[in-house]
Amino acid sequence: MSTTPAKIVRFYNPGAPDVLKMEDIEVGPPKAGEVQIEHKAIGLNYIEVYWRTGVYPQPLPCCPGTEGAGIVRAVGEGVTDLKVGDRVAYGSGPVGSYTTVRNMPAHPLVKIPDSIDFETAAAMMLKGFTAQYLLRRVYKVQAGETILFHAAAGGVGTIATQWAKSLGVRVIGTVSTREKAELAKANGCAEVIITSEENIVDRVKELTDGKGVPVVYDSVGKATFVDSLNCLKPRGMMVSFGNASGKVDPVPLQWLAERGSLVLTRPTVASFTVDKAEMLESAAEMFGVVASGAVKIQINQRYALADVVKAHTELEGRRTTGCTVLIP
Ligand code: NDP
Repeated sequence: MSTTPAKIVRFYNPGAPDVLKMEDIEVGPPKAGEVQIEHKAIGLNYIEVYWRTGVYPQPLPCCPGTEGAGIVRAVGEGVTDLKVGDRVAYGSGPVGSYTTVRNMPAHPLVKIPDSIDFETAAAMMLKGFTAQYLLRRVYKVQAGETILFHAAAGGVGTIATQWAKSLGVRVIGTVSTREKAELAKANGCAEVIITSEENIVDRVKELTDGKGVPVVYDSVGKATFVDSLNCLKPRGMMVSFGNASGKVDPVPLQWLAERGSLVLTRPTVASFTVDKAEMLESAAEMFGVVASGAVKIQINQRYALADVVKAHTELEGRRTTGCTVLIP
């Protein structure tokens, strides 16, 4: 197999969105254990902002992205579970999905059910895996519980809040604007706190008869971390899974004791998808909730891959809602 001309988006140094440059490359045949995929859609995720800005340093030059969907063009030696023409998607594995064509290990690839189109698959894999492990594995939510979920109108937020509601959970969501509050309500939040207008701790206490919640899912980080701890019941769990507002400062252990034996965890999707059987189980659960209609994947922004600078500008500027896909 000869090389294939492709487009790739890379940055050579961390910085503002315009460090992202689209370039021409030639992709060689896949190596042993690899698959060559032609992307039909690529998912945009906040982690790519951390990479691009240097919050999570990456080897340079860096082609960001770990979520995509497309068609298998070629398989390397030893790949037995996938064949040319298969419809596949992934939401974990090595970085590098901002491309038209890429080679990648077969391990993270999952076959897409016929009922799910490429854009939906590209939008839901990483965010869906995240919602799945947060609600079903890190802290297994129970029907009747009230939980606090930050950034409820975002990509992970819209998926997780619908999913939690379908499990009988009462979700309190946080958002920054009234428009986003409407969207969060439409996505299953029983209550929404508008962070630019309301005090998070006071409202959560009011909404839980002063008791607090058993779990907080916090991806906002620095700006909300202490408030989130203060919203928990004794022995509650703080799930800090992102830092859109900046990295969380070091936490004195004593804070957990003072608030009543709290549990603090800082999970990553990689730890929950590295085992193939576990990953496939999560994927099946995700596809199941989408097929049943319990979770609707809302692609509220679509950009050509060539417009990736605009896509990053909007995501970082908090002007996106739901999921965003890049179209090669
Ligand atoms: P979102 O679509 O949720 O976008 C991020 C949202 O964070 C914004 O829309 C905004 O919502 C909110 N936000 C709060 N403060 C800020 C700020 N200062 N600057 C920018 N945004 C802010 O992104 P994703 O769905 O891609 O990801 C959601 C979060 O989950 C991210 O923090 C991401 O890193 C994390 N994540 C973690 C994973 C893990 O395994 N640990 C895996 C996947 C995602 P609003 O305006 O309403 O406040």
